[in-house]
Amino acid sequence: PLRQKLKENYSLTCLKMVDERVSQVDGTRKYLFGLEDGHVIESVWMQYHHGNSVCISSQVGCRMGCRFCASTLDGLERNLRPSEMLEQIYRIQSITGERVSNVVVMGSGEPMDNYDNVIRFLRLVSDEKGLNISQRSLTISTCGIVPGIRKFAEEGLAVTLALSLHAPNDEVRKTLMPVANSYKLQDVLEACHYYYEKTGRRLTFEYSLVRGVNDNLDEARALTALIRDQHGHVNLIPVNPIKERDYVQSGQKAIQDFKNLLEKNGINVTIRREMGRDIGGACGQLRRSYKEASAVPQCTEG
Ligand code: SAH
Repeated sequence: PLRQKLKENYSLTCLKMVDERVSQVDGTRKYLFGLEDGHVIESVWMQYHHGNSVCISSQVGCRMGCRFCASTLDGLERNLRPSEMLEQIYRIQSITGERVSNVVVMGSGEPMDNYDNVIRFLRLVSDEKGLNISQRSLTISTCGIVPGIRKFAEEGLAVTLALSLHAPNDEVRKTLMPVANSYKLQDVLEACHYYYEKTGRRLTFEYSLVRGVNDNLDEARALTALIRDQHGHVNLIPVNPIKERDYVQSGQKAIQDFKNLLEKNGINVTIRREMGRDIGGACGQLRRSYKEASAVPQCTEG
């Protein structure tokens, strides 16, 4: 009877490892995991001085439509359950034999578009009966869904919020991110400030530099003015070109000049190290190349 009850009420899932790629440059590992229903998702394991970090996906695909992002090219397939988000970490820990100390929800998917499951995941992964990872070591990245950010501020979670900014004004932002048609930058930043006030957590502003689109010095100046009063820092990401679009990475000099200008104006800024560049690029690129090369795999026992 117990077996019957378990079968009816619970599921025992295990992600199947479909592919593992190890970077020859920095040891970063990328995983393609197969889900029960045959979909595949992507997760990344990175080693830093301060510990091991895992980047997880929160959805299969994405419906936000950011122009430079590979995850969204085929739209959203479905939301991931909390167990499927946790499982990405458990599987990677057992494969690498290493403990994960930081988790970033920066893989495929928009966390605010799968809100309840992501919140449940954050509570479980930080629970002392779970992996017990400190909430301060968890980061979620959003494209800027205002009601989601405001609601998230009320959850009593001390996790870091990263905002995908990518432009210093609505006009440029709309060309890169369709979500900018729904929410004005000013409202997004007010919501971010509210998050800071409620949680005391400093924010991260992600800014992917695209040559000729958002990387000139006037834009750096406008960015300075935009976030001067925010509590947070800017993380510059040289855009990782995808073959479906003709966006090009900014040159080294443009990236440095952009950074210097922000710094001179008192903004904390870092340039994101490109981890695992040789093994499938950014968000969703590995999954996409796999989907193109083969039929969707069937989940098998074992
Ligand atoms: N939906 C969330 C998580 C996305 S992935 C969000 O929008 O924040 C994490 C970051 O990588 C986001 O800032 C996203 O805009 C950025 N990104 C996606 N594809 C990229 C690419 N090809 N080059 C550079 N940054 C990219």
